[in-house]
Amino acid sequence: MTDCIVCGSHDIEIFLDLGNMSLANKFLTEAECAESTEATYPLRVGFCATCGHVQLAEHVAPPAMFDHYLYISSMSESLKAHLHGLAATAVERLGLTETSLVVDLGSNDGTLLEGFLRAGVRTLGIEPATNLAEIAQAKGVATLTAYFGEATARTIRAEHGPAALITSTNSFPHIPALRDFLRGVDLLLADDGTMIIEAHYLRDLLEQNAFDTIYHEHVSYWALGPMTRLFREFGMEPVRVERLPIHHGQIRVTLRRIGQQTPDASVTQILAEEKTIGLDRIETYRTFADHARALRDSLLAILAEFKAQGKRVVGYGAPAKSSTLITFLQLDRSTIDYIADKSPLKQGRYSPGVHIPIVAPDRLLADQPDYALLLAWNFAEEIMGEQAEYHRRGGKFVIPVPRVRIV
Ligand SMILES: [Zn+2]
Repeated sequence: MTDCIVCGSHDIEIFLDLGNMSLANKFLTEAECAESTEATYPLRVGFCATCGHVQLAEHVAPPAMFDHYLYISSMSESLKAHLHGLAATAVERLGLTETSLVVDLGSNDGTLLEGFLRAGVRTLGIEPATNLAEIAQAKGVATLTAYFGEATARTIRAEHGPAALITSTNSFPHIPALRDFLRGVDLLLADDGTMIIEAHYLRDLLEQNAFDTIYHEHVSYWALGPMTRLFREFGMEPVRVERLPIHHGQIRVTLRRIGQQTPDASVTQILAEEKTIGLDRIETYRTFADHARALRDSLLAILAEFKAQGKRVVGYGAPAKSSTLITFLQLDRSTIDYIADKSPLKQGRYSPGVHIPIVAPDRLLADQPDYALLLAWNFAEEIMGEQAEYHRRGGKFVIPVPRVRIV
């Protein structure tokens, strides 16, 4: 078990043990299933009594997860529009020009930086996944294949000068070596520069009971309190915070060097709200864990009853979080015959760990199983709309989170 990645304290209380899990995004071919060399890692979440940061107790080495990455930003139209919107907002608010440099950390396929390029701003992407960096380069988005830290920052600064803006969207929760990362930011950022972080927000995770969004890629579950503490140590502070509805609920935090800009009311307001709802207290997380275990038990009871009645159950949607739910409930092919998913990259493969086959969604109408467990529950409305015919013929959907519902 590691020390707190924000403050170095040993005093971390594990409040939820989700079991031993394979890497959530490693969908296997039939040949890979036969090899049986798939590693599993403990998936346990803890709360630091010293600084309040919520984090995984054990880390998987980043190259095992990020050297090759299957999640591509431009595959989702809504995410693409969101990132281009962020670029337009930043150009306007910060007055970026053709002499400004924007560096995106964890730049994926370059989707965010394309937004800045359109406005004529200089850009550089930093992306550890070779396959994604290649896609970005092919689109004309200059990208360095690397993990960001002090050494990388030094090289970039020497070659390109200081950054007016450093962005990190959906990558900050992935960073285990936060101090090296922050030293890099400090080195690269211009004295009057700005950093913008977008990350899933701990408060939304708790309010949605979304325990299944916990998996090894997400080392941190950020609240503004611990983030503020960390950045202040490096001479920076949040000056504006916005809550965004995208991806289960996120925060966008704008940070600058202390003294550059008076923080606006959103910062004090969100910090105060975090205290009011108890994000800085272990009891809050014990209650959250109780809810997760109660949900697991009621869902298992329902599935056992279906099986006793001879009903057929399949899964629908194979996002990374489906691996957490399947592992936590210890489901396997005896409960779920297969999982239907729209992604051609996953069809014909097998789920990590328990190797449930992934098939195309049209299988649902061909088979007409009795129940479809919506593992991608955040897209419940969209999926039920697409599978209206299955429902009309008598098929039922089981929505597991935030509470079990059968529709
Ligand atoms: Zn801590």
